[in-house]
Amino acid sequence: MVVGNLRPATVTVDLAAIRHNVSEEIARLDGHTEMFAVVKADGYGHGAVPVAQACAEAGATGFCVALLDEALELRAAHFTQPILVLGITPANEAAIAAANDVSLTFGTLDWLKDAQADLAAHAHRNLKVHIALDTGMGRIGFREEDDLAAAAQYLTAHADSFTTEGVFTHFATADEKDTTYFHAQAKRFNELVAVLPKRPRYVHVSNSATSLWHAACNGNMIRFGVAIYGLNPSGRGIPEVPYPLQPALSLTSELTFVKQLHQGDAVSYGATYHASGDEWIGTIPLGYADGWLRRLQGFHVLVNGALCEIVGRVCMDQFMVRLPNKVPVGTKVTLVGSDQGTTISMQDVADYSRTIHYELCCILTQRLPRRYI
Ligand code: PLP
Repeated sequence: MVVGNLRPATVTVDLAAIRHNVSEEIARLDGHTEMFAVVKADGYGHGAVPVAQACAEAGATGFCVALLDEALELRAAHFTQPILVLGITPANEAAIAAANDVSLTFGTLDWLKDAQADLAAHAHRNLKVHIALDTGMGRIGFREEDDLAAAAQYLTAHADSFTTEGVFTHFATADEKDTTYFHAQAKRFNELVAVLPKRPRYVHVSNSATSLWHAACNGNMIRFGVAIYGLNPSGRGIPEVPYPLQPALSLTSELTFVKQLHQGDAVSYGATYHASGDEWIGTIPLGYADGWLRRLQGFHVLVNGALCEIVGRVCMDQFMVRLPNKVPVGTKVTLVGSDQGTTISMQDVADYSRTIHYELCCILTQRLPRRYI
């Protein structure tokens, strides 16, 4: 992928905001609880390596990723902290993980047996593993006591191959006001953990929402994700957070073309927008190929602190806005962030495009350069 370094369109990531969000949360943890920073999906689109560095500086003691490749990226960048892959890695990659001191997640006895075969084929390396428990997320993990007990027995019998480093679950509704399902999952977690002969080094259940709103369940490690980036995991669902989260990401560009249209003149594919009189229209050089969604037609951006409507369809690499008056080419445009006291948040963009801010951060493509401040 070519990075558009010469185009005036940039994602700016405020690492001080990330350090603030991490250290505020760590200050709330009891002294026995560690924070692993979740930096999967390239740090939710913010850049895994710089984000991991900022989190470590602010006190995070480990990292969570989704893919073994993402763990290897951190090792290549010389991070020595524990790294846990949260998803299921193919068992025949166990030796690669062990060789790089990466901890893997599993949720079946068969996976352990296959991983054992791979480790045996590679000079019996020892792999750190975390046991996933499916307490109601319905995604990965043991659901039944018997299956879990058999796996625990296998781990004991193969202690030369496996170090049981952790046990965890993931909540489906920690970001919701109704806590009924959350508490049912927590209860099931405790029932399943009781099957294990001893508690592993890390017992962890908390994503951002759990740690922010149900800290009593934290175990002794939290997997802190979206709140690192200054985003409320509940969207607008639970606005009260224990400290002000500072959004780290802003997206800015410049006007590359400005023209006057007259009544009835059309804008963009499908000619869906017509000027209702004399109007100044500005063109901005990014589009859905950058992750600025086509359905954002009718939303707005900030030009000189003023909200300007997106008119006509968003194209692959450009879109148009209606300006309040003639504005010079090169004027700064803020798509996400603040300008002169007015803010467009990721949540605003998410609301308009009927999705969640998690998704919007992740789909800002690599064509947009990331700048760190
Ligand atoms: N733990 C697991 C297993 C996850 O899948 C995720 C993210 O999807 C997280 C923790 C972090 O969640 P959040 O970003 O909501 O804090």
